[in-house]
Amino acid sequence: AYLDQIEKVENDVHSYVTIDKEGALKRAGEVQKMLDDGTLLSPLAGVPVAIKDNMCTKGTRTTCSSKILENFVPTFTSEAVLNLEKAGAVIIGKTNMDEFAMGSTTETSYYGVTRNPWNLEHVPGGSSGGSCAAVAAGECAYALGSDTGGSIRQPSSFCGVTGIKPTYGTVSRYGLIAYGSSLDQIGPIAKDVTDCATILETIASHDVKDSTSVEREYDFTSALADDMKGMKIGIPRDYFGDGLSADVKEQILNAVKVLEEKGAVVEEFDLSLVKYAIPAYYIIADAEASSNLARFDGVKYGYRTEEYEGLHNMYKKTRSEGFGAEVKRRIMLGSFVLSSGYYDAYYLKALRTKALIKQAFDKAFAKYDMIVAPAAPTTAPELGKSLSDPMKMYLSDIYTISVNLAGLPGISIPVGKDSKGLPIGMQLIGDCFQEKKIIQAAYTFE
Ligand code: GLN
Repeated sequence: AYLDQIEKVENDVHSYVTIDKEGALKRAGEVQKMLDDGTLLSPLAGVPVAIKDNMCTKGTRTTCSSKILENFVPTFTSEAVLNLEKAGAVIIGKTNMDEFAMGSTTETSYYGVTRNPWNLEHVPGGSSGGSCAAVAAGECAYALGSDTGGSIRQPSSFCGVTGIKPTYGTVSRYGLIAYGSSLDQIGPIAKDVTDCATILETIASHDVKDSTSVEREYDFTSALADDMKGMKIGIPRDYFGDGLSADVKEQILNAVKVLEEKGAVVEEFDLSLVKYAIPAYYIIADAEASSNLARFDGVKYGYRTEEYEGLHNMYKKTRSEGFGAEVKRRIMLGSFVLSSGYYDAYYLKALRTKALIKQAFDKAFAKYDMIVAPAAPTTAPELGKSLSDPMKMYLSDIYTISVNLAGLPGISIPVGKDSKGLPIGMQLIGDCFQEKKIIQAAYTFE
């Protein structure tokens, strides 16, 4: 049924970079056999999933939506995907994204744009735009995305689906092609929070192959209860002021009222320090990216330029031809902030800012069980309107990136539509390892 739906809508939506129809059907047959034998018992057995194309899948090309990895076929599978496979998942294909997860619209992909299934003239958000569009358009039952600065929550909000960015360290990053390693986290994208909690329970694991993986509690589904009595919710005043569109503000405040009616206690508080989150994030993420992307040099992986004179010329031509404009901009910015003479002024200062932002959240979570925020200042913008002004695009990440800087869990759930019928998402932010609280609150709307 999902393959039929892909047949119907994929030409318009373009969620996928690679669709593995034969592989999926073969695998579905194998899983059916295991279910018949009784050798496999899992809520995800046989359920078709789409994987963002920055997670390595053995034998299936993994492009990061970049030309430089056009023909890269990994020899191993990322840990999160392996966990799904063990549970009997059927992988339908690899989803489109912003090149190397750098962007907010899925327009920086080398393989063309993905369109928002709710309105094809609009973007699906990014960078996990393909994963969110695939779920929204019924081209898979659920998907995996990655979130470095909002890339699960923002496109989930734009596409009217539910997405969770877990606490840093919850899902192994082994086999996730790194963007900003200290910020990257894999998470589930699905039609509702029940599905997301079930998937998160399956993909989360302690993994010695990822030095930042944490051993923790892996139960999330027991939080699926309709009860908000006594829960304290903090509303950051700064998040609901200038720059937030009226439609988004209204729908979120309506949703907060629902939580209040269910017994939550709601209070406004000051989180003004988060105004420094954008500069800190774009310095740290780009610094890490400039180092992480140094490995794409035409020797070890993927694309190599055809004609060159000597090694340095080969590097230069390979990278000039293989990377897109946004990726090059970030490599240059990242190299600049790490260079001697600027390291203290930019990179170290950004790290200090990150520590202060974490402290501000610690203070808030001493009082509140969770924080409610928008996922994005507006609904999905029209195609072609964002890339010409990168600064404006960076600024639109205001509500999501501080969560990554502090390593916190965040969820985006659909709470309404704007006047044009485009979905609006509400973000619930929890303290580290407190996914269950935000899952419980999200369940109110199911
Ligand atoms: N939009 C942000 C960026 O471009 C976040 C991307 C992400 O979370 N991968 O860096």
